[in-house]
Amino acid sequence: MVDSVFRTRSLGAPAEGVKDQYADGKAAKVWTVYVGDKKSRTKHYRDFLVGLLREKGCKSILDVACGTGVDSMLLVEEGFQVTSVDASDKMLKYALKSRWERRKEASFDNWVIEEANWLTLTDDIKIPGNGFDAVICLGNSFAHMHDSTGDMREIKTALKNFERCVKPGGLLLIDHRNYDYIIRTGETPTKCIYYNSKHTKDIHTSVLYVNGKPHMVTMDYVMDISEIAKSKNPEDDLVSFRLSYYPHTLESFREMLEEAFEKKCKQRIYGDFKPLNEIKDPGFLIHVVEKLK
Ligand code: SAH
Repeated sequence: MVDSVFRTRSLGAPAEGVKDQYADGKAAKVWTVYVGDKKSRTKHYRDFLVGLLREKGCKSILDVACGTGVDSMLLVEEGFQVTSVDASDKMLKYALKSRWERRKEASFDNWVIEEANWLTLTDDIKIPGNGFDAVICLGNSFAHMHDSTGDMREIKTALKNFERCVKPGGLLLIDHRNYDYIIRTGETPTKCIYYNSKHTKDIHTSVLYVNGKPHMVTMDYVMDISEIAKSKNPEDDLVSFRLSYYPHTLESFREMLEEAFEKKCKQRIYGDFKPLNEIKDPGFLIHVVEKLK
């Protein structure tokens, strides 16, 4: 028996068509507002990411969920060799535009951007030698993939494909929102350590249960774009977009990563970039997996 219950603070059903949730271009259009301008990745975020990659001597980086290119550009600017992929051409369009605008800078001219899907990743892109020094999948991206088969098959295939792209001794950095907290409280904090965006007004959250287990979390992001839009009608100042996610819990996600790496890995987990014992109820959990040689 399917027992579906919405515990909801907002109206509406979960997003239809979870394949490319960005296909209508709505989220892509306001994404730059959501993540703040291109320089708005917090200093904390930049230091954490760049620090970890440098500490391990990583040079070649594959960003498997580049979206509009916010993380990739940060890394290109820092001198890494970046390959960026995403399944949504609506999102990639913004990354391609940024590369074109900065094509006179050699590092941007060398920035590789391709369309690719996690399920076919190893066929869609050219993997150098024995793999990339690091693969990143950040910004709560992985949770976009739903369990449409009911046995986590696609989710596990995607993780395995990420593992295949990491060279022995390399890193996979992958994050998700703190769904343990979201399931417990029914709420998503708007404060985000990744972005400086001051425009996010609210994130209305619904948790869908199937067979008594959390199966999907839908978030309606409400953005105030008055400063940017300068519209005459105040009603036009609030825009919203909806995304739905698979609610990975910390423990089950940790286990799936172990499985993808066939236990030949070392895994560290951070909460909002801090060791877990130093932070209560972080907004994001970041798994750093080192593939053993
Ligand atoms: N890392 C970026 C983008 C986050 S949005 C940032 O933090 O701003 C998540 C991205 O994941 C979207 O651009 C979406 O198109 C991409 N994505 C979701 N499912 C995917 C899949 N199966 N294959 C490739 N990309 C996917």
